[in-house]
Amino acid sequence: MSGSDATRTHCPYCALQCGMELGRELSIAPRTDIPANASGALCQKGWTAAELLTNGERLTTPLLHGEPVAWEVALDHVAGRLSGIRAEHGPDAVAVFGGGGLTNEKAYALGKFARVALGTGQIDYNGRFCMSSAAAASTRAFGMDRGMPFPVTDLTGADVVLLAGLNVAETMPPFLRHLSGARLIVIDPRRTRTAKEAWLHLQPAPGTDLALALGMTHLILADELVDEEYVAARTTGFEDLRTSLAGWWPERVERITGVPVHHMRHAARALAAAGSAYVLTGRGVEQHAKGTDTVSAFVNLALTLGLPGRHGSGYGCVTGQGNGQGGREHGQKADQLPGYRSIDDPAAREHVAAVWGVRPGDLPGPGRSAYELLDALGTPRGPRALLLFGSNPVVSAPAAEHVAERIGALDLLVACDVVMSETAALADVVFPVTQWAEESGTMTNLEGRVLLRRRAVDPPPGVRSDLDVIAGLAGRLGHHFDSEPAAVFDELRRASAGGLADYSGITYERIAGETGVFWPCPSADHPGTPRPFLDSFATPDGRARFVPVQHRPPAEETDDDYPVHLTTGRVLAQYQSGAQTRRIAPLVRAAPEPYAELHPDLAEQLGIAQGDVVRVSSRRGEARAVARISDAIRRDTVFMPFHWEGANRLTNPALDPVSRMPEFKVCAVRVERDS
Ligand code: SF4
Repeated sequence: MSGSDATRTHCPYCALQCGMELGRELSIAPRTDIPANASGALCQKGWTAAELLTNGERLTTPLLHGEPVAWEVALDHVAGRLSGIRAEHGPDAVAVFGGGGLTNEKAYALGKFARVALGTGQIDYNGRFCMSSAAAASTRAFGMDRGMPFPVTDLTGADVVLLAGLNVAETMPPFLRHLSGARLIVIDPRRTRTAKEAWLHLQPAPGTDLALALGMTHLILADELVDEEYVAARTTGFEDLRTSLAGWWPERVERITGVPVHHMRHAARALAAAGSAYVLTGRGVEQHAKGTDTVSAFVNLALTLGLPGRHGSGYGCVTGQGNGQGGREHGQKADQLPGYRSIDDPAAREHVAAVWGVRPGDLPGPGRSAYELLDALGTPRGPRALLLFGSNPVVSAPAAEHVAERIGALDLLVACDVVMSETAALADVVFPVTQWAEESGTMTNLEGRVLLRRRAVDPPPGVRSDLDVIAGLAGRLGHHFDSEPAAVFDELRRASAGGLADYSGITYERIAGETGVFWPCPSADHPGTPRPFLDSFATPDGRARFVPVQHRPPAEETDDDYPVHLTTGRVLAQYQSGAQTRRIAPLVRAAPEPYAELHPDLAEQLGIAQGDVVRVSSRRGEARAVARISDAIRRDTVFMPFHWEGANRLTNPALDPVSRMPEFKVCAVRVERDS
C-alpha cells in the first residue's frame, strides 16, 4: 500500500471507477473499500494511470491559432468571437459538445452554460455514441434508466449471466471477478477474451442480435418457461409481445443469425432454470441503427423470465465511459435537463429555470443529437462555432473524415483538453485543462453509485479546470457561474431535486464516509437506492412494459463491392479514442498499432498473410492496419479496434430513430493487401 499520506480516489478511465490510492510519489494501489474492485484488482490502464499526470505531451498554456497566449487573452478572444457569431447568426449558431468522462459538476455546468450563457439548444455529447440505445430502452420499459439497477457485487451470487455484446475481460477486467461463480453465456461475433471464459458462446452475424433475442424469447414462450406469476403481477403488454414473436421461430432465426437452434434453446433453458440469473447488454448490441429495439428485445427476454426488479436477478446495461452514467443525467444531452428530466416537460423546465434564475420560456428546446450536430457544422443552417470539452470526435465519431471536413468548415473551434488530441489540433483556441487527480469532483459509476474523486496533486502551472473555462466565458457574456466543484455540486443537487436522478441528499462528506451513495437519494437522511425497482418500476402504474419489436437487416448490407462485415471494438491496453492511453509507454508497448482481425479462410481467399498491411475500405473512407489472422472471428467479418484514427472513417452514421445512436458495430467493407 502507498501509506497513510495517500489520497483515496478513483481510476480516471472506465465506468467501473475502481477505487485507488494515489501516493505522494504517484504510486498507485487498489482500494479495498470500493466494492467494484474490493478484491484488489486494477487493470493495466489503472495501474499506469499516474503516468497521465507526468506525461511530457501535456498542454500547459492556452493556444490561439497555435501560438501560446495568456489565459485572459484566450478567454477574451473566444468570448468576443462567440458574441459576434451569436449577434450575426443567432444563438443556435454556437454549439457545445461534451463528454462522458467529465465529472458530474462539469456535465451540469456545461448544460447550464449552453442554455443560459449562450442561449443555445445545440448541446450534446459523446455519450450519445455510448449507451443512448440502452438508456432509451430502459426508459421505455422501466420508466427510468439507471444502467445497472443493482450493485455489481450482486452478480457474485449469480448462477447464469447472459452477456450480450460485452467484452468485459478487455474493457474492465475486474468486473469479470464478480462473474466468477456464474455460467456465462456470451453473444459476440468474435471469440473475445470474455467469450473464451463462456460456458456457451453464441456467435451471430453482425447486426443480427435482435433476431437472436427474438428467437430465444420465442423459445421461452414455446417451451413454457415464462414466469407467469411475475408477468401477471409486475408487467404490462405480454399478449402483444406474444403476438409479435409469432414469426420468429428458431429455424428462421438460425438462418438469419447463424446460431444453431440447439444453442439458442440451451441458453434459454439455462437462464430459465437458474435460481439467480442476469441479462447484461453492452455496446456490441447497442451501437446499431436498431440498437434501442435490440436492447428492448433483451429486456423483453429478461421480463418473460421474471428477472428485473428482484433480489438476485436483473437486467442491466454495462456503461463504458468513466462517467457514462452521471454524464447522461445532468443536462449535457440535447434532450435533457438536470435530474434526468426531459427538456420538453413544462414542470421540469419550471424547476430548473428557477434554480438557474431565468424564465422557463427563456430555456431553449431540444437540439440536434451528437452526429446530427457534427454533420450540421458549418452548413448554412448549422452551427458556426463549436466548443468541445473532453471529446475527440475526429477519431471517435462515425464517418470520421466527413466529421473532420465539417469541423474544418467552422468559423470557430475551441477545444478544452489535457493533450493535443487529433480534434484539438484543428482548433482555433485550445485551453489546457486539469485532469482526474488534479481536481475534485464526483463521478457516477455503472451501478448508479455517486463517487468522489479527490484532488491529490497540484496541476502543472498554467493549467486550469474546464469549470474555470466555463465560468470565465460565462462571466464575459454577463453571467456569474461558480467554478469551485463543491459549489457547483451544491447547485446540481438543487437542480436535480425531485427528478428521476435525484442527488439532493448526497454531499461530498456523505460520499466520503459511505464509499459512495446510490441515486435516487432525495434527502440527507435517505440511505440511497442501490436496487430501485424491487417494489415497483418507475412507470406510471409501477409495472414494467413489454415493448414488442421486430428484427430488420443492418442499414448497410454486404454486396459485391463491399463483401465483408466490419465490426469494431476495444483492446485492453487502450481507452476510447486513445488520446490519453496512446501516450502511456507501457500501454503503447502492449497495444502499439491498429490491426484488422480476419479469419484464416478469408485471409487465404484475399491473399493476405499475418502481418501484412491491409487496406480496409467502405463507402465513407479507408484505413490501413496490420493483418492479424485468427479463427476467433467469423469468416464473413473483419474486426478493427477504434482507438486509433482509421476504423471510424469506415463506420456508418445511420442513426437509430429513437436514441440517435450511429451504427458503429456493422457496415460493409472491402479488404485488400496494401501493395
Ligand atoms: Fe480503471 Fe476501468 Fe481498469 Fe478499473 S477496470 S482500473 S476503472 S480502466
